[in-house]
Amino acid sequence: MMRHDSFDREHLWHPYTSTMNPLPVFKVDRAEGCEIILEDGRRLVDGMSSWWCAIHGYNHPVLNAAVQAQLEKMSHVMFGGLTHEPAIRLGKLLLEIAPPSMDKIFYADSGSVAVEVAMKMAVQYSYAAGKPGKTNFVTIRRGYHGDTWNAMSVCDPVTGMHTLFGPALPVRYFVPSPSSRFDGEWNENDMLPLRQVLEKHHDSIAALILEPVVQGAGGMWFYHPEYLRQAAALCREYDILLIFDEIAAGFGRTGKLFAWEHAGVEPDIMCIGKALTGGYMTFSAVLASAKVADTISGNEPHSFMHGPTFMGNPLACAVSVASVGLLLNSDWKVRVGAIEAQLKEELAPASALPQVEDVRVLGAIGVIEVKKPVDMAFMQKRFVEEGVWVRPFGKLVYVMPPYVISPQQLSVLTSAVVKIAGEL
Ligand SMILES: *Cc1c(COP(=O)(O)O)cnc(C)c1O
Repeated sequence: MMRHDSFDREHLWHPYTSTMNPLPVFKVDRAEGCEIILEDGRRLVDGMSSWWCAIHGYNHPVLNAAVQAQLEKMSHVMFGGLTHEPAIRLGKLLLEIAPPSMDKIFYADSGSVAVEVAMKMAVQYSYAAGKPGKTNFVTIRRGYHGDTWNAMSVCDPVTGMHTLFGPALPVRYFVPSPSSRFDGEWNENDMLPLRQVLEKHHDSIAALILEPVVQGAGGMWFYHPEYLRQAAALCREYDILLIFDEIAAGFGRTGKLFAWEHAGVEPDIMCIGKALTGGYMTFSAVLASAKVADTISGNEPHSFMHGPTFMGNPLACAVSVASVGLLLNSDWKVRVGAIEAQLKEELAPASALPQVEDVRVLGAIGVIEVKKPVDMAFMQKRFVEEGVWVRPFGKLVYVMPPYVISPQQLSVLTSAVVKIAGEL
């Protein structure tokens, strides 16, 4: 039985659904480890990590303790004119694991805000570098960068919100997403569209923004790392900054700590978020090279023009320090590798289903692409009946479980996904 709470149904807006005829929601009482426990006592194996975030699972004693300890001191102080130990400790930790080119850290409130900040940085950099005409962006299709205005403008124009907001959005340059698969042959033609756009429009382009190797909510596509190597060379050739959005893929999800490592190509600006706090609260960071930061700071108005109220929030920094520490001190690489092997084996039978277009796995991400868009209400209900939490979108049924998932729990997840894909 599905449970509806009438206040929720009548007054609370949920993501991407109607207020008049909303998709059903399931009421959660608590969550622990890799399980979400509904109010009626049903336990669901979590396949989503709450949208890439909860990499250590829920209600983790180490993360709980970090929040509690910080709470006793202060939950928040402004970051203008003040600083604190959690922000400094997190910064040190992040620079140890970030690409060597990264030197400065800007804390922000959420992934979308990080993308806004990164795009502003690129524009202000161009201005400071004496090229005020370079204000636009180029990106690849099938991307997802968030729901705020500029983030939305670089999301995939089809799976994103361009149809609706198109006339109100800044117009960006889009090139096709690389067709070469992550583990397939490299097709040199993948590079042509980007080269053509840069040749023609480099004078007006501040940066190339993309999700390195793993495209998340825009298409769940894994592309060839060679694309990044050549794209980075083109950016250097045409004096265009390279922005990596690692908000979804960062912190071990793809089998590397960050996805850029698959290609060995370093960005000028990098956004991280989601799993940064282990899924405890919203928080993000924009990392930048010294060149970007110093160029901005060396010219009028000598400061970067952004400063969120909750910048560097101590609670968020403290739980991030604990989460990153937990990750680095764990055998995450072995775990993600084991999840990858098990996903490959247990999702493979879906390839034979007539409903299925493609099955792909990278790190702790498993994707079944079906031929027709799914009925979300039907799918969610069926998944809950099978004792798992999976939320598909469009033609994509995918899982990215917490790294602490046991092989038995993962089998429950994969068998439910394969079974329900066969019912479509
Ligand atoms: C989720 C996501 C964002 C936006 O993050 P929010 O915290 O939802 O604002 C941006 N980029 C990527 C790649 C994401 O997956």
